Amino acid sequence: MSKTKIIATIGPSSQDKDILRELIKNGMDVARLNLSHASHDFCTDIINKINELNEELNTSVAIMFDTHGPNVRIGKIDGKANLTKGNKIEIHSDEIVGNDQRFSINYPGLINDVKYGNILKVDDGKIELKVIDKELNYIICEVLNDGVISSNKSLNAPSIKLNIPFLSAKDKEDIIFASKMNVDFLALSFVSASDDILDINDLLIELENDHMGIIAKIENENALDEIDEIIKISDGVMVARGDLGVEVPIERVPGIQKKIINKCHAFGKISIVATEMISSMEKSVRPTRAEVSDIANAVLDGTDAVMLSGETTIGNYPVETLSTMDKIISSAEEDINYLDFLSRAMQSETQDITGFISYSVSECASRLKCKTIVIPTLSGYTARKVSHFRPYCPVLALSPDPQVIKSLSLHFGVSGYVIPELKSFDEIIEKSKILAERKFNLGPGDSIIITGGYPLKKVKHTNFMKIEEL
Ligand code: PEP
Repeated sequence: MSKTKIIATIGPSSQDKDILRELIKNGMDVARLNLSHASHDFCTDIINKINELNEELNTSVAIMFDTHGPNVRIGKIDGKANLTKGNKIEIHSDEIVGNDQRFSINYPGLINDVKYGNILKVDDGKIELKVIDKELNYIICEVLNDGVISSNKSLNAPSIKLNIPFLSAKDKEDIIFASKMNVDFLALSFVSASDDILDINDLLIELENDHMGIIAKIENENALDEIDEIIKISDGVMVARGDLGVEVPIERVPGIQKKIINKCHAFGKISIVATEMISSMEKSVRPTRAEVSDIANAVLDGTDAVMLSGETTIGNYPVETLSTMDKIISSAEEDINYLDFLSRAMQSETQDITGFISYSVSECASRLKCKTIVIPTLSGYTARKVSHFRPYCPVLALSPDPQVIKSLSLHFGVSGYVIPELKSFDEIIEKSKILAERKFNLGPGDSIIITGGYPLKKVKHTNFMKIEEL
């Protein structure tokens, strides 16, 4: 079982319950629903299936909603439209059915925001358009390269200040729906400033939702300008390489990815690397060498999670892709320099009792080659802290609260079980040993570490660690 988490986006290729079951069995930790494409009915169907499968398989796969965000998408196209280099194309503010001469967009204000000479990028930058004229209700662009467009494809306007409010009516409706459906993580598209996250926090407070984790998607220059503040007030960030590679020069993306992973580790926050990680497997049963290297490098750099998009939504081999990714991750994890991550984490960790115990637990586990760290937890706090120190062995969190276990599903190395409340210290030790043995197939001579806070509910910090030889 790999420690780096896998998020799989669910779509037509993976919506079937039997496929979802195989995805879970092959290592899917979080199922992502992209609200730019998925309807509420589709989301409800998938959430119900995942809940049933969690019961059936005794797993805690979490659900992530990814918002549409303040991004521009092209409207309805009649089938597919071929754009030809040198031709002109009109972009209309009023809704029309598009073809190879005109199409509309979901943000009418674009017509005012752009200037002559601006470059617009369609479908993750595959087609570039240059603004050459403006009329009252549409702009005229020159097509700079051949390509095919279809409904709902993205349109990026790099370096153009768009006047779209961060929280649209659709996003608000989607977040209210997410809260109603008990979704575990909300990935926010096109965050530009830390204030955007604060707006969403306000909405969640209004909805009396105190458990949904907030993941800020980093996909433009504005977010990079405020990256430290954004990381500090989010639960984690996603390097959304699809849009990022369109909004900033693509050759900058690997360096940005490494810096963001390092910053997240320093601040003790979740990092996710997303998009085109293994996209050749949409059509082939084998990944390319470059894709294997890309995934392994993200793991070696210390990302908490990697994400699949097209591979599992429209790809021909969703299950094979997931199991291949899991194999690549497991192999790369053999080469992680765990003690280096441990000492780097200590430099940034709060110097309090929980920090020191978590550090000691992780160091002992790595040096004594313990098989697992078991953490009975009510809030997930100790498990998050221990994960920050990147112990060499897996962490097993035990909690009576299913939401707490799911909230840990993006943290490196942590998996969990929902168990009835533990009443005494002896029961904590006994249950921890039994569940660790069962989960990791442990036997005589294997060592485990149990850590947490006791008496439960009465202490506010971690106060014990116990090494047990089985
Ligand atoms: C991305 O742009 O890389 C991304 C993850 O966002 P989306 O899938 O919504 O385009």
